[in-house]
Amino acid sequence: MIVLGIETSCDETGVAVYDTATGLRAHAVYSQIALHAEYGGVVPELASRDHVRKLLPLIRQTMVEAGLRVGDLDGVAYTAGPGLVGALLVGAGVARSLAWALDVPAIAVHHMEGHLLAPLMDDADPRGRPEPPFVALLVSGGHTQLVAVDAIGRYRLLGETLDDAAGEAFDKTAKLMGLPYPGGPQLAKLAETGRPGVFKFARPMTDRPGLDFSFSGLKTQVLLAWQQSEKSETTRADIARGFEDAVVDTLAIKCTRALDAAGCDTLVVAGGVGANRRLRAKLAAMADKRGGRVSFPPPALCTDNGAMIAFAGALRLQAGQHEDASVRVTPRWDMATLSEVAPAA
Ligand code: ATP
Ligand code: MG
Ligand code: FE
Repeated sequence: MIVLGIETSCDETGVAVYDTATGLRAHAVYSQIALHAEYGGVVPELASRDHVRKLLPLIRQTMVEAGLRVGDLDGVAYTAGPGLVGALLVGAGVARSLAWALDVPAIAVHHMEGHLLAPLMDDADPRGRPEPPFVALLVSGGHTQLVAVDAIGRYRLLGETLDDAAGEAFDKTAKLMGLPYPGGPQLAKLAETGRPGVFKFARPMTDRPGLDFSFSGLKTQVLLAWQQSEKSETTRADIARGFEDAVVDTLAIKCTRALDAAGCDTLVVAGGVGANRRLRAKLAAMADKRGGRVSFPPPALCTDNGAMIAFAGALRLQAGQHEDASVRVTPRWDMATLSEVAPAA
């Protein structure tokens, strides 16, 4: 089964072709970062217009790279939410129309399910695909969630952030120390040269039971440390390291708790912050210690991409799920309302 995946929920146009027989055939991402940089954040209307400009050329390019013609497609999957409504509508409109023209099914994919399933794609993990039940840590620009995955499609929220998402905390912290937009990955890069322990920040909400997170207070701690410093390059790197260690430790502590609560030893991690090297190393060490395992997508498939949407769509299509002919998006969408992906009868 060959499925085209289209991702337009925010500021990345992602297109991919996934083949259930051979795996990922091609994928391409066009990032709008340069477009939004001068505003210091994503401008929704500009995002929609840029998806309109880039989506069709990117679909053509991806089909060529996959060595396929549109007639070879068995389905078209698209991100139906959560995300920016205008941006979502561009992807949904194009995907639904293409599916209609080709007379193949269209599959509406939940963006966070896409992220969550990315570590299960192909041989992302040489030990083989992690099988539910497992715990998922979703750490992206808009979400920080611990999810119990009882089966593919059956999700229970165990905990989430009460304020900033982990990626958002990286971006905002980078900004207040003067790093250019979007600062998350740059802050992480800077942290590599910083010394551990020079700046020690709190591990928020780890001193009490529970699986929720709060990252907004860390920003204030960093701001004070930065303002009271001599603002040298060395200090900026040391603060970045202190901040990164605080976020990584906090995530690792809560992951351990979530695995204990769920009574399992398999963790999957997804979303942009999943690309963070220190987080990957810390969680791998944590999993080793308990004799369990942790799986990540390749770093390029941690942030938004079409491959995760094509893959999630292919799983749902194989199970016989697809949409009617209307173009519908769901900008706010609770993952717990999804249905289980039962194997095809
Ligand atoms: P959501 O999926 O919740 O709608 P999003 O799609 O904007 O949000 P992603 O594309 O999954 O989020 O991830 C982007 C986020 O990941 C940004 O906040 C970015 O700063 C963060 N990020 C990317 N690389 C790294 C890294 N190496 N270390 C820390 N954070 C990172
Ligand atoms: Mg983005
Ligand atoms: Fe995302």
